[in-house]
Amino acid sequence: MTLYQLLAEGTAALKRSGILETDAERDARELLLAAFEMDLARFLLERTRQMPEDEISFRKTEKYRQLIARRSERRPQQQILGCQEFMGLPFYVDENVLIPRQDTETLVELVLAEQGRTAGKKKCLLDLCTGSGCIAISLAVKGQFPSVAATDISAAAIAVAERNAKTLVPAQKIRFYQGDLFAALPEGCFDVIVSNPPYIPTAVIAGLEPEVRDFEPHQALDGSADGLAFYRRIAAEAGGYLADGGSLYLEIGYDQGAAVAELLRVAGFANVRIHRDLAGHDRVVSAYGFAHS
Ligand code: GLN
Repeated sequence: MTLYQLLAEGTAALKRSGILETDAERDARELLLAAFEMDLARFLLERTRQMPEDEISFRKTEKYRQLIARRSERRPQQQILGCQEFMGLPFYVDENVLIPRQDTETLVELVLAEQGRTAGKKKCLLDLCTGSGCIAISLAVKGQFPSVAATDISAAAIAVAERNAKTLVPAQKIRFYQGDLFAALPEGCFDVIVSNPPYIPTAVIAGLEPEVRDFEPHQALDGSADGLAFYRRIAAEAGGYLADGGSLYLEIGYDQGAAVAELLRVAGFANVRIHRDLAGHDRVVSAYGFAHS
């Protein structure tokens, strides 16, 4: 048996489970490297050699076949490997958190461009529905926020976010609070509030890819019948937690720009803008200048 044969065997199994051809080969190779604890260079060097028929090769082959079996159930690759890169940082992920999406880097880049790298007054940041902590932590690493707070309703998600904060920003204390949006906070006044809340309309979830539908937490996806429940609540409550001149940044679904912008205007925000992602879709709504009355 060679590594190359094992790769072909795993790729075929993943394709049979409905995974796209190009993804199947890449995923099988990553799982092979993980099971055999080797890097790509060594794999390329050794892939056509006969493996020794010893206990170690046997155990690693077994491990690889177990990983392929889990992926064949359509469990996300990131949950199997326990990792997803976001903003160039390796985030630990498991079934308790939404896997960070590249789309969300649009929000982080925008906040960094407008808030995080500016000299002058240092800003306090709040991230609602933090999940894996990817937004709060990457902003803490790359921006200049002396104080970062983050909330999530799921205690299991908070545990993941805390683990990520410990490894990725050991020098900075991010305060995590478990609870329902702002209700989680003891108090607070923030210069910048960000969130990527659940925004998928409930009925749409059943039609999503099995990786998302069957393995990611529905609590992190489901934005109620019209997908807008969290935006309504954030629009209504954010003013009470924003400093004068503070800013709000919300990730949105590609077709939610107009609706979310309107919710923010009605709630008293000025300067409401819709921003696009790299694919040209509406992805973030921002606002500043909340009129405290
Ligand atoms: N804020 C996290 C992320 O962007 C989790 C979002 C969520 O659970 N809806 O990945």
